[in-house]
Amino acid sequence: MELNSRQACLDADADDPLAGLRTQFEIPEGLIYLDGNSLGMLPKGVSARVDDVIRRQWGQDLIRSWNRAGWMQWPHEVGNKIGRLIGAGPDEVVVADSTSINLYKVLSAALMLARQQRPHQRIILSERSNFPTDLYIAQSLAQSLGMQVQCADTPEALEAALNDQVAVLMLTHVNYRTGHMHNLPALTAAAHRVGALTLWDLAHSAGAVPVDLRAANADFAVGCGYKYLNGGPGAPAFVWVHPRHIPHAQQPLSGWIGHAQPFEFDPQYRAAAGIGRFLCGTPAILSLAALDIGVDTLLAAQPMGGMAALREKSLHLTDLFMQQVTRRCAEFGLACITPTSHAQRGSQVCLTHPEGAYAMVQALIERGVIGDFRAPNVLRFGFTPVNLRYVDVWDAVEHLYAVLQSKQWQQDRFQQRAQVT
Ligand SMILES: *Cc1c(COP(=O)(O)O)cnc(C)c1O
Repeated sequence: MELNSRQACLDADADDPLAGLRTQFEIPEGLIYLDGNSLGMLPKGVSARVDDVIRRQWGQDLIRSWNRAGWMQWPHEVGNKIGRLIGAGPDEVVVADSTSINLYKVLSAALMLARQQRPHQRIILSERSNFPTDLYIAQSLAQSLGMQVQCADTPEALEAALNDQVAVLMLTHVNYRTGHMHNLPALTAAAHRVGALTLWDLAHSAGAVPVDLRAANADFAVGCGYKYLNGGPGAPAFVWVHPRHIPHAQQPLSGWIGHAQPFEFDPQYRAAAGIGRFLCGTPAILSLAALDIGVDTLLAAQPMGGMAALREKSLHLTDLFMQQVTRRCAEFGLACITPTSHAQRGSQVCLTHPEGAYAMVQALIERGVIGDFRAPNVLRFGFTPVNLRYVDVWDAVEHLYAVLQSKQWQQDRFQQRAQVT
C-alpha cells in the first residue's frame, strides 16, 4: 500500500475495515496521539463501568461485592481476555501488580526452577538496551541469589552469549527505545537448546503485535496494562506462565491472595494450584474494571481478523510514517533507528536527532501531535492501529516538517525538560 497524497490517506481510511474501532475511544478534538505505546487512550466505556463499580458495587453492595460482583475472579477473567491476545491458553494469565513487580516474581520463579534443575547455571542474560526496570529487577535478584546479569550490546552478541551457563534469557520482545522486535519463537528455541528458560516482557507487544506464547513454547511472560491495552494510568500488569511450569513455579511474594485457600487463614503458606499463585495481595478492583474495558477495545477487532488484522494496519501506518519522513524531512539531520524490515519492527517508529530531539517533540506537542522523547536523543512515535487513521500519520509528518523547516523547535520554551518526558 503506497499512499502518496493526503486524499489517498482519507480514501484509505474510508476503506479501512478497522476504522470503526476508533469510535470506542474518547479522542480530544484535533489531537493526533502517537503515544498510545506509553499511555493508551481512554475508552468511552470506562467512565460508566468504573462509575457503576464505585456507586453500585462499592457504594451500595459494599463488602458483599467480593462475592456478588465476583471481584475475586476479575484478575483471572481479565487475564484470560489478555491471554487471547498473546496466544495463551485459558487460566494461564493473571492480572496483578505492576510490570516491575511481576518481573520480580516471575524472574525469581524462573531462577529457582533453573537452580533446582541445573545448579551450575548462574547467568541472567539480557540486553543493555532493555528497559531499565527490567535490568534493575534482574540486578537485585542476581545479587540476592549470587548470580550474574550479563548484558549483550548487539543481537549477534546476544546469540554468542547464549550458552549452557545461562539460567534465564530475559528479553523485552519490542524494544521501548528503538521499536526493534525480536524473533520470539527463534530466540526461545535457541535458549531451550542450551538449557535456558525464557522470560519475555510484552510491554510493547500485547495489543500491538501478534504474539503466540504457546506456539513458541515460551516459559514465562509479563506485560503492561496501560500501554496498548488501554487500561489507564498505572493499570495493573499481567503474568503468563507456561502450564508445564505452573505447579513448580514458586514466586517470592507469597501473599495471602496467592494462597490455595486465603479464607482459611492458615498460618502456613501453601501456593494456589494454578496461575493464581502469582497473585500477592488484594486486587485493585477499580483499576481492573478500567483495564477490562481497555482489553475489550482490542478484542472488538476479533470479527475483523483480530491481532493479525491490527498488525497489518500497524505496519501500513508505520510504513507510511517512515516513507513520509524520508520524503519530507530528509534534509534536517534526522535518522530512523527503527528497522525497515517488517519482521523486526514493533508498532512504533523512533527517530534521532543529535541536539534537538527533546525540543522537537515539545514543539510537536504544542501543535497537537503527541509523541514522546526518550533520552538521550530519540523522538518516539507509537502507532495504535485500533484508533489511528492514515490521515493522522500524514498530518503528523506535515507538522514535523513545519517544526523543522521553520526552526520553531529552537525557541526557548521548548528547551525546558519536564519531569516526565
Ligand atoms: C513500560 C514498561 C515497563 C513498566 O513497568 P512498570 O512497573 O509498570 O512501571 C516495564 N518494562 C518495559 C519493557 C516497559 O516498556
